[in-house]
Amino acid sequence: MTKDEILDALTRVDASALFEEARRVRQTTKGQGVFLRGLIELSSVCERDCLYCGMRRSNPKTFRYSLSDDEILTSAKLAQQYHFGTVVLQAGECVGLWTQTRVAELVRRIKGETGQKVTLSLGERTEADYAAWRAAGADRYLLRFETTDRNLFTRIHPGNYTSDEHPRLACLHILKALGYEVGSGMMLGLPGQTLASVVNDLVTIQDLQLDMVGLGPYLADPQTPLGQSKESCEVPVSVDFTCRCYAMVRLLLPQANIPSTTALSTLDAQQGRLRGLSSGANVFMPNLTPVKYRSGYRIYPDKICVSAPEMDEMQALLNDFTALGLTPVEA
Ligand code: SAM
Repeated sequence: MTKDEILDALTRVDASALFEEARRVRQTTKGQGVFLRGLIELSSVCERDCLYCGMRRSNPKTFRYSLSDDEILTSAKLAQQYHFGTVVLQAGECVGLWTQTRVAELVRRIKGETGQKVTLSLGERTEADYAAWRAAGADRYLLRFETTDRNLFTRIHPGNYTSDEHPRLACLHILKALGYEVGSGMMLGLPGQTLASVVNDLVTIQDLQLDMVGLGPYLADPQTPLGQSKESCEVPVSVDFTCRCYAMVRLLLPQANIPSTTALSTLDAQQGRLRGLSSGANVFMPNLTPVKYRSGYRIYPDKICVSAPEMDEMQALLNDFTALGLTPVEA
């Protein structure tokens, strides 16, 4: 597909043909299954100061917590009990907390005690860290490139970068070479982001032949510098536009696993995640972080699932899936 064709599909008035085609391809490659992954938010402590994220280091209002290894194992066992098959360990970036040795040991314990697949999402780390965790048995790594617009990325994601290469694309190449199943993607609607750059993001996703694609709307947080920005953006922050991107990814990478993200449900609590699953997405990640900590992982305001008891949440999910004719599968 050319860039002009992608842009046309993202912006034309009637997207019904795009959604229809994405559902057809999804049915062929993934069937009617929804892959469930248990999301465990390990910690809200972060050394980075990303301008868009509520967990940024210099936000004094964030409630900082960090799970113990035993708490993480308890959540991982819950995922096993629900037959999710995979746990996703995600955290703010903090090398001192998530040392190479500690994470490797956690991966070994989760795999040994629950037999599940392990996805890590711990940010930008050294090749040695990624290699040690892969050697310990980690299966997958999630690291969004956030935007392929290098200037915009550098502006909103400060770091000690010396190379001209996009730092997160550099990490993704390393992760792929180490044999991880790799996931990445972007935020949609960042101040200063252009539609042309979103088209580039989609082409990059295809070029990287990603195994998983995590993308979602950018939700402005007034406690962050970007959340206070008055800069305009060509890219809509909407359920419809996000779903168009899911559908496009399904056409560009028919085999990819595409989560319908929490941010989408935050935009539309009733229909968000279901519209994602009807537009080509095939993964949902229920939150298994212990309820008492969830308010700390506040990357944007009004994040859903901050207090719902796990069992109620699971039952509501299963009802929703059944209504769409989807069946949860272990993967
Ligand atoms: N530290 C890891 C990393 O940076 O990849 C994982 C945690 S980070 C909070 C997870 C993702 O949250 C980011 O990749 C970013 O896309 C998303 N995120 C952060 N702030 C957001 C916001 N205001 N709106 C939507 N998504 C946001």
